[in-house]
Amino acid sequence: MLIAGQWVDAADGETSATHDPCCGETIASVPTATEADVERAVVAANAALVDPEWARMDGSARGRMLNKMAQVTYASAKQLATVESQNNGKTFREALGEINFAAWTLEYFAGWADKIEGETVPVPGARLNYTLRQPLGATVHIVPWNFPLQLAIRSIAPALAAGCSVIAKPASLTPLSLLAWCEALEQAEAMPPAAALQVVTGPGGRIGAQLAGHTDIDGIVLTGGVPTGQLVMAAAAANLTPVTLELGGKGANIVFADADIGRAAKAICYGIWMNAGQMCWAGSRLIVHSDVHADLLAAIETEIDTWPLGPGLSRGVRIGSMVSKEHRSSVLETLEKGLAEGGTLVRGGGCPGGELEAGAFMEPTIVNDVDPSSVLFTEELFGPVLAVTAFNDEKEAVRLANDTEFGLLNGIWTNHLGRAHQVAAALQCGMVNINEYPVTFPMTAFTGWKRSGIGVEQSRHALSFYSRVKNITVNLR
Ligand code: NAD
Repeated sequence: MLIAGQWVDAADGETSATHDPCCGETIASVPTATEADVERAVVAANAALVDPEWARMDGSARGRMLNKMAQVTYASAKQLATVESQNNGKTFREALGEINFAAWTLEYFAGWADKIEGETVPVPGARLNYTLRQPLGATVHIVPWNFPLQLAIRSIAPALAAGCSVIAKPASLTPLSLLAWCEALEQAEAMPPAAALQVVTGPGGRIGAQLAGHTDIDGIVLTGGVPTGQLVMAAAAANLTPVTLELGGKGANIVFADADIGRAAKAICYGIWMNAGQMCWAGSRLIVHSDVHADLLAAIETEIDTWPLGPGLSRGVRIGSMVSKEHRSSVLETLEKGLAEGGTLVRGGGCPGGELEAGAFMEPTIVNDVDPSSVLFTEELFGPVLAVTAFNDEKEAVRLANDTEFGLLNGIWTNHLGRAHQVAAALQCGMVNINEYPVTFPMTAFTGWKRSGIGVEQSRHALSFYSRVKNITVNLR
């Protein structure tokens, strides 16, 4: 772990093994932080806030530092993607794309570091009134296993740009890429000074909970499941600590009869089978006009035939392993429950044997004619399962897409300009993609409505979480 600027083991020497899910082999053992280790990290994070090396580093210097971090990330991308692929099971190609996206996020926020401006406010009388935007303070970043390094950097970058100190906690299943990234930063002398960036490892229920409920933490960012979000928010409430929560999703691709079916089919495959479907923004529901229902399904089946399943580091593989056999079992269980409720399994639904048997692989799966009451329509399976439901008119399509407790990303496929924008406005979610899926950029907000979360990641909007307003009145007489 990286605590107070030092690479350390847990105080009691305890470790836990981390695995390659493609074969089940142990690839590393990682410290399990003790309560005392976490406490030391919190003390160091608060010390960084008053350490002149960090506290007096001006915005331009922080921007240069973030740009250097970005360059190191680009330069180490292949090595980091190898680590990520091995620890998570995803394909090397996917991992490489994510690491480059993370580097781009660092560059984006590097540009903001010297533009976090206050304002002057006209007030009555002979007075000057102005605001400062100051760093929120010591922030905790709790990261899931599905995009381990990219999602860590997604929130670390704006926090450092705003002058906060950072304690990051990776998911217990996938701690390696974040540690490898910090090692690369250190080797390139691109590590933020004064221990402004620390990493503690260990189980979320203990380490994460201790950090989330800590009185000396000023902000908590969690990317994870809804139940974890509720626990973190409850722990934070005890200290009135602000939270950003990026939680689950049940995205729908709505395909109208006038859509480009070929393009839609390719993107729908990408939206549900990339990362073996383990994505908050997966397009796990397909809501398709009945006139093009059969054609679109046929096009999706043709496309998915060209997606080989296999170990993430093997050439040509398009779908890697899931993160663990335990997680795969939970997906298979929900699939079984869903199929018992109705719908027709048109493809997949099983686990490949032969050479892939030792890994946590699952076939790309399509269930047709899924009723909106089915768990396949309502629950986030977090696996490679596409639920298909037909509609007959626009109103019904919008009603179906909104008929979920989640509100992260939805897609619209149509060549009718007015309809595209009207449906986008009517969808109850934080993000909409039109005629592509799924797409986001460092400069666009990543945000969920309803049970998909609270707050915004990426874009300038993220910065308002990491900086706080101070208003100052000066009597000029
Ligand atoms: P998870 O909620 O199990 O774990 C997320 C993180 O929280 C891990 O680091 C874990 O160790 C930690 N944690 C667990 N219990 C905790 C507790 N009591 N207190 C504090 N921390 C705790 O999620 P996961 O299984 O790693 O990831 C899958 C979930 O993440 C899915 O629901 C997915 O939709 C969501 N997700 C959301 C986004 C987004 O941007 N909206 C992105 C990726 C994943």
